[in-house]
Amino acid sequence: MGYVIQGETGDWELVIGLEVHAQVTSKSKLFSGAATSFGAEPNTEVSLVDAAMPGMLPVINEYCVEQAIRTGLGLKAQINKTSVFARKNYFYADLPQGYQISQYDQPIVGEGTIILDMKDGSTRTIGIERLHLEQDAGKSLHDQHPQKSFIDLNRAGTALMEIVSKPDMRSPEEAAAYVTKLRSILRYLGTCDGNMAEGSMRCDINVSVRKAGEPYRTRAEIKNVNSIRFMFQAIEYEARRQIDIYEEGGEVVQETRLYDATKGETRSMRSKENAHDYRYFPDPDLLPLVLSDEEIASIKSTLPELPDEKKERFMRDYQLNAYDAGVLVADQESAHFFESVAKGRDPKLAANWVMGDFFGALNRLGKEISDPPVTAANLGALVDLIADNTLSGRLAKEVFELMVETGKAPGDIVEEKGLRQVTDTGAIEASIAEVLAANPDKVAEYRSGKDKLFGFFVGQVMKATAGKANPALVNEILKKQLG
Ligand code: MN
Repeated sequence: MGYVIQGETGDWELVIGLEVHAQVTSKSKLFSGAATSFGAEPNTEVSLVDAAMPGMLPVINEYCVEQAIRTGLGLKAQINKTSVFARKNYFYADLPQGYQISQYDQPIVGEGTIILDMKDGSTRTIGIERLHLEQDAGKSLHDQHPQKSFIDLNRAGTALMEIVSKPDMRSPEEAAAYVTKLRSILRYLGTCDGNMAEGSMRCDINVSVRKAGEPYRTRAEIKNVNSIRFMFQAIEYEARRQIDIYEEGGEVVQETRLYDATKGETRSMRSKENAHDYRYFPDPDLLPLVLSDEEIASIKSTLPELPDEKKERFMRDYQLNAYDAGVLVADQESAHFFESVAKGRDPKLAANWVMGDFFGALNRLGKEISDPPVTAANLGALVDLIADNTLSGRLAKEVFELMVETGKAPGDIVEEKGLRQVTDTGAIEASIAEVLAANPDKVAEYRSGKDKLFGFFVGQVMKATAGKANPALVNEILKKQLG
């Protein structure tokens, strides 16, 4: 069982840990009042603090601290009542301070857990090592001038939460499920918008390989992967690269690598620094961050129902299986939509319609659930028409498509188009009699043992009734008359 990679010398196991940089949802930066809107004109959201003018002092943004605590609580993690900001020193062209204000040995959040929902409905628990607050750097622009690089400092000083997992993941699927679940939790909490394309969530992936039962071997870190698809490719490429090195008698070196999406490979960026290379020391401009139990409790009292609790409730109250419940709670809007449809109705039927035809229509039309092609009220009314036998499943699909096209209520469409299913036993019996009379040879074949012909008769009756006969009744009466 489990995910293994076959090599010349036997099976290899993957070991993956993730460091996710999540941009804190906040109107202003971590240590300044400058704005943080995405896509603003270059260098229009830069305060003197962000530009590191001499003598400027950072002032902690209380809201960003609250957001980090909220995230820690959402990850069921230890909140550290005292944490310390430290300077991480390195030269970076788009970081004018010459150091990043981060947290080192005393982060604001300690150990926690994330529960992964796997495709087969099973779960896996992954450890969180820590979450710390730090500032982002600016951005170098190399494509604006043939000889010069420009710098945009809008992002410099923006608050990031660096969320570090334990090396608990064993397959690319688990790494993908981790990022998906983390993003879902952050969005529920409102602490990060999780937009990977805009860089609000960036993943550094630590990958190593080993033979089953061995201690961990040397890892390589793949920097700044910004989509789940690239994550998959980068992990698979990197694992294979390391296995090939070991099997040829070499050693993997600890280093930072980049994933090149066009070539589909990772390549060395720099040999990995160790913590001491950064000369961390407590930032003398900032006092230790001290939290009270009351502050933590008051933030805790504002937490929404999170995906795991919602999933449990959906399984309990709506009798949904783990997979369906997991899909429906992945974002708050879908969960809310489902609950509106399911209220007072058969929840399994509601779930099938939301996850089947409704999600299908969203995908096909490229729409968001915030702007649904069919309202929850109308989808609920459609479920009612199935439950009271006005519509068969087949007719309901037809009505649903017309609802998407016209935006009309299902009841109106049924009346206008005469799509009500025929449940009148007499009418169905008459149709069946006609079909049997028209096909005496087939009837004889069926009676002499050719069971497969049953489907043919059902088809003929449905054709004769323009698809409106109740399929269950057709089956029942046909069996009786042929038997
Ligand atoms: Mn970092």
